Amino acid sequence: MRAIAHFINAKSVSEGARKGQVFDPNTGAVQAEVAFAAAKTVDAAVAAASAAFPGWAATNPQRRARVMFAFKALVEKHMDELALLLSSEHGKVIADSKGDIQRGLEVIEFACGIPHVLKGEYTEGAGPGIDVYSMRQPLGVCAGITPFNFPAMIPMWMFGVAIACGNTFVLKPSEKDPSVPVRLAELMMEAGAPEGVLNVVHGDKEAVDAILAHPEIKAISFVGSSDIAHYIYSHGTANGKRVQAMGGAKNHGVVLPDADLDQVVKDLVGAAYGSAGERCMALPVVVPVGKKTADGLRERLLPEIERMKVGISTDPDAQYGPVVSAAHKAKVEGYIGMGAEEGAELVRDGRGFKLQGYEDGFFVGPSLFDKVTTKMRTYQEEIFGPVLQIVRTESFEEALALPSQHQYGNGVAIFTRNGRAAREFAQRVNVGMVGINVPIPVPVAYHTFGGWKRSAFGDTNQHGMEGVKFYTKVKTVTARWPDGDVGDQSFVIPTMR
Ligand code: NAD
Repeated sequence: MRAIAHFINAKSVSEGARKGQVFDPNTGAVQAEVAFAAAKTVDAAVAAASAAFPGWAATNPQRRARVMFAFKALVEKHMDELALLLSSEHGKVIADSKGDIQRGLEVIEFACGIPHVLKGEYTEGAGPGIDVYSMRQPLGVCAGITPFNFPAMIPMWMFGVAIACGNTFVLKPSEKDPSVPVRLAELMMEAGAPEGVLNVVHGDKEAVDAILAHPEIKAISFVGSSDIAHYIYSHGTANGKRVQAMGGAKNHGVVLPDADLDQVVKDLVGAAYGSAGERCMALPVVVPVGKKTADGLRERLLPEIERMKVGISTDPDAQYGPVVSAAHKAKVEGYIGMGAEEGAELVRDGRGFKLQGYEDGFFVGPSLFDKVTTKMRTYQEEIFGPVLQIVRTESFEEALALPSQHQYGNGVAIFTRNGRAAREFAQRVNVGMVGINVPIPVPVAYHTFGGWKRSAFGDTNQHGMEGVKFYTKVKTVTARWPDGDVGDQSFVIPTMR
């Protein structure tokens, strides 16, 4: 059986009595065992990162950027191998696995520009002979804790920016698909990052708790479900750390009566069912305004769903593959049953889906609910599977209120030809990322990613300038170089008059 080890100081380390199983979601079989870190292993990773920090922080930003350039080239060279590995543990199809890696690489491209981004501010002559300048300095050892659903992109969101800023890093990826993060760390070493700059420890709550408690870790970035995000945020900050913790989502797509329904349906099927709905920026709720819009949408959606091809993750014709685990399949199917019991109309039931030859795989067929209401638990909670819910509304105001009042506020989309309505929606909606005729509005790498409400705890977003702010602290220097008498002593706070 393949063994997946920790990666500390550029070496494989497989200590620890506890292990987890890594499945192939296509077949349902165990394909590897992953070592689970106890506090001792986390200590070793932090010690490696601490030892590497002074040298890395003192490495000039251009040299750090060169490592990022080399890393990007290496990831591109290994794209096929990485995508296959990712897809074999996650279950997303190869093209989507490449997309996962590519979106991470776009953050690495941003990190390649770090010398420019880290330039501080300077005021010449803030007072007589006085100049003021500020600089952004790295924090030290930073940690990232990542979810299963983007095993390449989300680690790169974090370590790409943190390391380019001069920090060293300990990554605790999801124990469900841990292989790609280790490969990325190996490629970082090959790209020229010194030993200890990026370490990977695997595990579950025990490893995470050791990270939360470790006094040497200055900042923690987390992405995962909301209850865990809140736990990480409250414990991490109580321990004096800087924390950003992104949580779950329930993104709505509002469809106004003037929208191009054929285009909306094309966008919707990809955004709702792509990656088996296991995206925090998936669009699992569609909110048509008016009966005609709702009926037109449903009528066009059904044949698209019937045509959809669910297959193994290496099938080039499959639109989506299995969900990540048997437990997750059971959870999604449980929600489908609950939705029917709650009184929503189950138009298409994906439970019990079997793929010939892969009967033990974790597949869920595409499901569609109509006449979902806000009182239903299946509306209020995140399902994170290939399930689309139609919530019918009568007006723009009613549609705007739904995502605004939902507990989650990650992403939202509006589909319309009316620029004024779209503008008003974008301004007023209580959600962090908005798409206008864009179903999955994940911002480009040089902007920033982050939701509102229970979709994010903390006050900085991922990547872009917000990421740089998160991984650096500002120092401001006020310097006086008088060319003569500096005046009398004064007991009054200095002011600029
Ligand atoms: P998860 O919360 O189960 O796990 C995330 C990380 O937390 C993993 O590394 C896991 O090992 C660790 N963890 C799990 N249980 C823990 C516990 N009790 N104590 C401490 N650590 C624990 O999330 P997941 O199932 O891997 O990922 C799916 C979730 O992530 C969804 O809710 C999805 O919406 C969310 N997500 C959010 C974003 C975002 O940016 N907002 C992006 C991707 C995924």
